[in-house]
Amino acid sequence: MVRTPLIAGNWKMHKTVAEGLQLAKAMLPDLQALEGVDTLVCPPATALMPMSALLDGTGVALGAQNLYWEPEGAFTGELAPAMIAEFCSHVIIGHSERRAIFGESDQDAQRKVVAALDAGLVPILCVGESLQENEAGRAAEVLTGQLRAALSGLALNKTSALVIAYEPIWAIGTGKAATPEDTNTLLRNVVRPTLAGLFGDEIAQGLRVLYGGSVKPDNAAAFFQQDEIDGALVGGASLKADSFVGIARAAQG
Ligand code: PEP
Repeated sequence: MVRTPLIAGNWKMHKTVAEGLQLAKAMLPDLQALEGVDTLVCPPATALMPMSALLDGTGVALGAQNLYWEPEGAFTGELAPAMIAEFCSHVIIGHSERRAIFGESDQDAQRKVVAALDAGLVPILCVGESLQENEAGRAAEVLTGQLRAALSGLALNKTSALVIAYEPIWAIGTGKAATPEDTNTLLRNVVRPTLAGLFGDEIAQGLRVLYGGSVKPDNAAAFFQQDEIDGALVGGASLKADSFVGIARAAQG
């Protein structure tokens, strides 16, 4: 099964609209010249409307960093799935910062995944173990639990409809990436079989599973050489044109 790599930039709470447009314009020619790699940027919500106008027709996709599952109502500060879908094709769900700082649960992630799919968005579901869980040898158990909790009962028929991002929390923003080999083993032995248990083998083989956590241009190729790693969710290194482009180029094979 050949899965096209996806390189996604999570800008988190960085960049005003003007700064974001400047960054996107600086990257766009290089991203458009790539072959066999899908690219995606996820700026703050304020930039989604102008960014969708800039990216329209370029082949670079646009994603949001979050959504709320209700269609509308008295939910101050939240954005409904249809509001995100006006501008975006993708949405990040269950990022470890949302879980740790904003108290989001697996059940919240499940509601958001369902709402995103209903709105025609591709959810990028983030899962990953903490340092403590990793050191206690519990990574497999944690990942399986997070995937099952967020995805159980979901009727998936399109393999493009969902992306998983494996992001060990201890590797996010720390400069200490997981090793490509350990990551591949975990994806092969835990993540892919869990997805197969939920959706069947054929669909599981078609789903893209990304790695995230301190990916940089100089370590990216080693991840993308692994057969189970279908791209990257990139935080810090997505905020500079040359580093994001460098990572995307490394996925060209
Ligand atoms: C992230 O926040 O999803 C992430 C992977 O961050 P970084 O690349 O900075 O580790």
